[in-house]
Amino acid sequence: MPTTTWHERAAELEINGRAFIDGERVDARAKARFDCLSPIDGRKLAEVARCGGADVDAAVGSARAAFDDRRWAGKAPAERKKILIRLADLMLARRDELALLETLDMGKPIRYSRSVDVQLAQNCIRWYGEAIDKLYDQVAPTSDASLALITREPVGVVAAIIPWNYPMLMAAWKIGPALAAGNSLVLKPSEKAPLTALRLAELALEAGVPPGVFNVVPGFGDEAGRALGLHMDVDCIAFTGSTRVGKQVVQMAGQSNLKRAWTELGGKSANIVCADCPDLDAAVSAAIGSIYFNQGESCNAPSRLFVEASIKDAFLDKALAMIPQFAPGDPLIDATVMGAIVDPIQMKTVLGFIASGKEEGARLLAGGAAARVESGGLYIEPTLFDGVDPSMRIAREEIFGPVLAVLSFTDLDEAVRQANATPYGLAAAVWTADMGKAIRTARALRAGTVHVNQYDSDDITVPFGGYKQSGNGRDKSLHAFDKYTELKTTWIQVG
Ligand code: NAD
Repeated sequence: MPTTTWHERAAELEINGRAFIDGERVDARAKARFDCLSPIDGRKLAEVARCGGADVDAAVGSARAAFDDRRWAGKAPAERKKILIRLADLMLARRDELALLETLDMGKPIRYSRSVDVQLAQNCIRWYGEAIDKLYDQVAPTSDASLALITREPVGVVAAIIPWNYPMLMAAWKIGPALAAGNSLVLKPSEKAPLTALRLAELALEAGVPPGVFNVVPGFGDEAGRALGLHMDVDCIAFTGSTRVGKQVVQMAGQSNLKRAWTELGGKSANIVCADCPDLDAAVSAAIGSIYFNQGESCNAPSRLFVEASIKDAFLDKALAMIPQFAPGDPLIDATVMGAIVDPIQMKTVLGFIASGKEEGARLLAGGAAARVESGGLYIEPTLFDGVDPSMRIAREEIFGPVLAVLSFTDLDEAVRQANATPYGLAAAVWTADMGKAIRTARALRAGTVHVNQYDSDDITVPFGGYKQSGNGRDKSLHAFDKYTELKTTWIQVG
């Protein structure tokens, strides 16, 4: 346990907001910067390089040069493995520093930055490092007259654009498979939480990733992000963020060089609890714990809860008894489980949804207001609406905040129909003791991940991604390599 408090450590932390291009910390070419403010208390953390087109050109140029001379792609997979594992080890050695940066930057509780974000991010990079020297290519079953090899090659220069809700983990989900496969990378973190990505690039260099292979261009979406989307020398763009911007990124790929465009987008996930749920306490705990985890700022948060009418009152009694545990607190105190909302824009969006829920006639049973205003930070009470109609905005749109919409049902088929009546398809769940019903329902739910009698299981070994407008890509697992590799056929005349 630290002998100094997290607040004392935060006061001593030196934060570097310069971009990371060609193995060095640099200012933006135009010397432009933006203020990085902490949502915890509004304090200014750093001035961060505001990269634009010229910086993106420099980063892509550096990545291209690194790819073309094969300083990374040409290393044996076992060598790349060693370096990525060293990076994971360095992340563990720097766990407190990375966790503190993450918490200060985006407001999540330090206990989770340490135990979830750093832990999962380093594990992701370690896992892809471990995997890369265990993958074999193929020989096609052609006639004896020739030999046809089917091989995987790195796609080249990968641009990754990521959101702010799990900044380090979303970076790791791209860095791990993209670098393990031998690509060069230009990463654009969110302007709302750029700090840990910048630090990861420094640690990667220290671990032995050659200069130019991993560049970070902090900046705004319509500047650095757009420049990457339209760049003629980026071979692949891996985007995680909102569905609105994801559509633009796909268009930019089409307008430019038809770079491979992979999208991991928003969600409005349905959690269906049947009256024969085998463990009501577990269902309540998962529903409440998962919607309020990370301040509700999770793409796969179960934000629509469908409860069978006959158990709804019992369910809500238990849920309302649990909710006070999630009252927002100081993110730099170990006991806190709900932290700050990332920035004033997101705060306004979430409070706007709460207002719309009230206006449209949903019953506010918990929360509904800003909290800890005296801290100077941005906090919202864990909020629950009952009596939600599928037509209401809080039932249809992604809120991305600590707001749960409760709907009830009497007919499971109708609940599944409503669950699927959304443009999104990221995650879903069903709770029932009847396994046949569970499997039929899981099959009927149009989502990339379906949980049965649980909600938040997670493992690097399983793919994560969406159906429909939740995106087309899959992060995590060996399937992620599909995004960062080209499939080559080589015909060899045998004679
Ligand atoms: P966002 O779409 O606003 O921004 C995401 C990234 O795109 C940021 O880096 C931003 O600067 C950049 N960007 C914005 N406009 C751009 C443009 N015109 N061109 C290029 N880049 C641009 O999303 P956000 O608010 O940062 O993140 C929240 C969203 O991310 C939610 O919808 C959430 O569901 C989603 N998300 C999805 C997953 C997943 O795996 N499916 C994971 C985490 C978050």
